[in-house]
Amino acid sequence: MRSGFGCESCGSPAVRLPAELKDDALIQCDGCGCTLMAWGAFKRRVEAQEAAERPEPAERRSVGARVPSIC
Ligand SMILES: [Zn+2]
Repeated sequence: MRSGFGCESCGSPAVRLPAELKDDALIQCDGCGCTLMAWGAFKRRVEAQEAAERPEPAERRSVGARVPSIC
């Protein structure tokens, strides 16, 4: 699955997450080890992407609840 993310230096989509997921903790590229961005910024990016992929909230409608008309 592609996340649409790639390291600017080596193009690797893999990231190394910080041990402590704090907003100011830095994530690193798993390919070359360079610092990519802060976890908080990465998280917002992923959340924004997920929101863009699901433009509508899941709508639940009761289907098949029609009562047959009896004459
Ligand atoms: Zn890299």
